[in-house]
Amino acid sequence: MAETSSSTYAEMAEIGVIGGSGFYSFLDNVTEITVKTPYGAPSDSLFLGEVAGRKVAFLPRHGRKHHLPPHRINYRANLWALRSVGVRQILGPCAVGGLRPEYGPGTLLVPDQLVDRTKGRAQTYFDGEALPDGRVPNVVHTTFADPYCPTGRQIAVAAARGRGWEPVDGGTLCVIEGPRFSTRAESRWHAAQGWSVVGMTGHPEAVLARELELCYTSLTLVTDLDAGAETGEGVSHAEVLRVFGENLERLRDVLFDAVGALPATEARDCLCAHGHDGWDLGIELP
Ligand SMILES: [Zn+2]
Repeated sequence: MAETSSSTYAEMAEIGVIGGSGFYSFLDNVTEITVKTPYGAPSDSLFLGEVAGRKVAFLPRHGRKHHLPPHRINYRANLWALRSVGVRQILGPCAVGGLRPEYGPGTLLVPDQLVDRTKGRAQTYFDGEALPDGRVPNVVHTTFADPYCPTGRQIAVAAARGRGWEPVDGGTLCVIEGPRFSTRAESRWHAAQGWSVVGMTGHPEAVLARELELCYTSLTLVTDLDAGAETGEGVSHAEVLRVFGENLERLRDVLFDAVGALPATEARDCLCAHGHDGWDLGIELP
């Protein structure tokens, strides 16, 4: 296994996929590297492979043994590590609960908004605290009105359609702290706000990506109807795993088609790459 630190910039990958091992385990010639960051260790090694002629870094969000619950994932280290190996565009698939009866299990929704209901997760690099190497990031207020990459969203929607899986194009992902599921009252409240799906990992992934000027696209797979939208016993983890497993193959197909369709790094013309124009960051991004 090769080791690299975030100060040794290398173009090892251009696109990142944050998701489980099911997305890369069958690829040929996967290289595993560990990356050190000023924020500690990422969830796991990065697994580098080639998809559709593009260099991709896969990162198992919960660790390869799925030992990290959503609230204990080191999101800052994860995004920093991806950027430091050259990644500039990220696809972030995740499992969610549907907040409307029509968003049943197997629905693919590509959100265009999010609501942060997490608590106590480190969600900025620009907190004025010195890094271990002595560098001090300035205080920066990042524009986040549109949290997802518009180009990546369009490509993800087209990729799903190309596979005959009509996605919900747009909607609001509500991210809760977890690791417990919602109560019925919380779930009804989320639905009453007009939010679409609820999950535990989509944030602060999205904002940290934006702070690092990375394109981030969320693809949410509905594995269950959330407690307020169903009439049964409530969400069970076994059910979530079963539905995710049933849809893994086609989700992987959609992801890989999207990887092939993403623009070259130097051709990015979206807001994500320019979020900090005019700001003095105080540090160089990796
Ligand atoms: Zn973008």
